[in-house]
Amino acid sequence: MKSVVMLLASAAALLTVPTALPAQNAPQADTVDPSLPTQLPRTAIPHHYAVTVIPHIQQLTFDGSVAIDLEVVKPTSTLVLNAADMTFSSATLDPAAGGAPLPGRTTVDNAAETATIAFPAMLAPGAYRLQLAYSGKINTQANGLFALDYKTKEGADGRSLFTQFEAADARRFVPSWDEPDYKATWDLTARVPENLMAVSNLPAISSQPIGGGLKEVRFRTTPTMSSYLLFFAAGDFDRVTKSSAGREVGIVVSRGNGRYAGTALGDEAQILPYYNEYFGTPYPLPKLDNVAGPGQSLFFSAMENWGAIFTFEHSLLDDPAITSEAERHRIFGTEAHEMAHQWFGDLVTMGWWDDLWLNEGFASWMANKTTQHFHPDWGADVDHVGARENAMGLDSFATTHPIIQHVRTVEQANQAFDSITYRKGESVIAMLEGFAGPDTWRRGIQAYMRRHAYQNTRTADLWAAVEGAGATGLTTVANDFTMQPGVPMISAGPARCVGGRTVVTLSQGQFSNDRRAEAAKAPLRWHVPVRASAGGAVTQVITQGPTTPLIADGCGPLLINAGQTGYYRTLYTPTEAEALRAAFAALGPVDQYGVMQDSLALSQAGYQPMARPLELLSAVAPTANGKIVERALLDWTGLYDDLRDDEASRSAIAARVRAYGARLQAIGLTPREGEAPVDALLRPTLITELGRVGDPAVIAEANRLFAAWLNDRSAIPGSLKSAWLGVVARNATPETWNALHAAARATSGHVERANLYELLSSSANEALARQALELAISPEPGKTISASMISTVARAHPELAIDFVLAHLSEVNPLVDLSGRSRFVAGLVSDSGNEALIPRLQAYGNATFTPENRKPIESAVSRIRWSATNLGRIRRETAAWLKAHPLSSPDVPARSRRGERG
Ligand SMILES: [Zn+2]
Repeated sequence: MKSVVMLLASAAALLTVPTALPAQNAPQADTVDPSLPTQLPRTAIPHHYAVTVIPHIQQLTFDGSVAIDLEVVKPTSTLVLNAADMTFSSATLDPAAGGAPLPGRTTVDNAAETATIAFPAMLAPGAYRLQLAYSGKINTQANGLFALDYKTKEGADGRSLFTQFEAADARRFVPSWDEPDYKATWDLTARVPENLMAVSNLPAISSQPIGGGLKEVRFRTTPTMSSYLLFFAAGDFDRVTKSSAGREVGIVVSRGNGRYAGTALGDEAQILPYYNEYFGTPYPLPKLDNVAGPGQSLFFSAMENWGAIFTFEHSLLDDPAITSEAERHRIFGTEAHEMAHQWFGDLVTMGWWDDLWLNEGFASWMANKTTQHFHPDWGADVDHVGARENAMGLDSFATTHPIIQHVRTVEQANQAFDSITYRKGESVIAMLEGFAGPDTWRRGIQAYMRRHAYQNTRTADLWAAVEGAGATGLTTVANDFTMQPGVPMISAGPARCVGGRTVVTLSQGQFSNDRRAEAAKAPLRWHVPVRASAGGAVTQVITQGPTTPLIADGCGPLLINAGQTGYYRTLYTPTEAEALRAAFAALGPVDQYGVMQDSLALSQAGYQPMARPLELLSAVAPTANGKIVERALLDWTGLYDDLRDDEASRSAIAARVRAYGARLQAIGLTPREGEAPVDALLRPTLITELGRVGDPAVIAEANRLFAAWLNDRSAIPGSLKSAWLGVVARNATPETWNALHAAARATSGHVERANLYELLSSSANEALARQALELAISPEPGKTISASMISTVARAHPELAIDFVLAHLSEVNPLVDLSGRSRFVAGLVSDSGNEALIPRLQAYGNATFTPENRKPIESAVSRIRWSATNLGRIRRETAAWLKAHPLSSPDVPARSRRGERG
């Protein structure tokens, strides 16, 4: 092991019972929020945990013991802490002041996930050490301590252990005050087989053989931190390291995979000094590892454990034989996100899950900002607008929620990890940074870090820091967007040209997919910072009340939300919309993307005819910016899927998609040295979408490559494997499906194996989809691949997938991680538009979840209803427009003839 460092000072701390708590670590008893029923009674506060874990790796169980130094703050005869799936063998309490140890009697409440330890006498306020011995389970999905099985390089069966504790699963590993505001210091000791490497948040201080083929590894004491950030892993690992900003950064992988860790290690070393500077508080731990897990989850891809990030292999390892350009970007983005959490989340932590967005919105925004900083040619600025669209997709339904929401249950905390928390959070932060100005914003963030390091906060603390740095008025805007749900709609026009300036009235309303009439009658109100241009400099106004005048320099086409940092939709009058369409090619990619998506969403919701976005889509030339071509392709093929029963319209759309074949010809079928990253990103999308609409040349090439690949796995460039095989898999015959299945069985690397099993699940053929479902619940794919196979089947066959899952619930449930279960079934059918599925989904929800935990079911039901109500209109209008606008040439859409370029 490379990380064994002798540090006797902190080893000594293990043996000391603290007599008083440092003031900044002590949550105040009077801050208890009685409306949080899962909160523990604040009769005692933990200060330090010394945990010992002895995993029984083959039996999938573990033994544990913990000594918790705590402070009783109110006289009590019981201590209540969190514990789940555990049995206790002993409990004693030692008063720090001396005296006989008190025996405790432990009872477990499985529903509340608590253990209550009763003592024979009242405990006076003061310091104590609670010692517990217990045993627990090693899970096979990512909750608590869990095992991932894999094939070693030699083809043998390997098993590694990891932990995943957020939101509330540390209690499956150690009995604890498992809530984010009970921060404490942690010592971890693990007894593991001598040939395994053990990893935790801090480096080890000692590693000693203890007989029986085992060793005892003790880790250095952590800083004061929340229980959900504790981490432990043990396995046959390699660790590659680099020095960066005076710290050791490392990637921990299954033995032999170190050669795939170079990209991630380089990214990590590059990002650390940038963050030290941005946050103004240097990273406080001596090392930062990122530990690769050979498995996956539908719920998350990485976790920000302090000093020991965990990431599934698909988002960390770069294997040129299978990794695509998009996946390489995802590795950077995931690391940037998890590393931002080392400050936003780990050093300063939300007090309760209500403010989860402080962690996730911020880390998502920071990751995008960092990607734009280091990789300006990756198109991350356009992706940022995509994140906004993703959030608005959820936020336009009545079942949405405010960014800051009241979380009452563990299940609600798990459900809070959604697009509103991540993507709306990210979008609103970008808007607020724009409002404050980047320098003021950053000074505010630095003050916030300094002021609240090692503590817990609420959202208001962040606004106070940024306002304190000079962003006067920010809190008003911020509160409107974080404390109420939904999407503002700014209606603009008509515009008048007065003395070389554009004069226009902005009217504010609320955009809604499923309650348009109600939102029009009584819209919510926001203070919206609106940036606009009309050919001159960008002007900013804050809308207040129903109408706001805007005067912009120049008399060119009016663009509202210039730069797309605003979280709102813009509805133009027909004249303004037409002027913007005519000027579309002159807009930058970020504005092109935003204008297109705004227009499509407004039309789909019924605020304007479908003709408007179709005009914009047809204005995207094959030569446009790669991100814009990609968006246009996905929008066209989305409509292609919507029009599944209308062959004439489908062939009209197919012709428009095929016109982009010219771009594929121009950039070539195989990656080129030194090509623009957005071209490298676009190539697999072109292949996939051309394949989707049955482009004969792409299908023939896919079949040719597939035949060659069956004999030689290097016959397809690594970055295009998923794309080319995806075309074959979608159109699979029983013969090709069987060949793909044989290839999947013969593959040992987790990521490639998972890709192949997912491809087996993507067939348009119903009989083959059924076969994939049977395969998913068989032992063959391995425990963490099955859930994504079922989700993949559901994309083309939602009815088949949900019926299969409901008929096999007892087999399917163990294949989905606990924290993602409430979303799993809902997610299978939310895009189906089939109202017949609603009663089935509701019956499942009613039987499985208490009413307060049914949000994902309600949300899926509202999406299905909306599609069922609106798809007819969308199809009719689209079909009519397509009929009226036949392509005038087989190669180039009519609009792009005018020489427009992106
Ligand atoms: Zn995160």
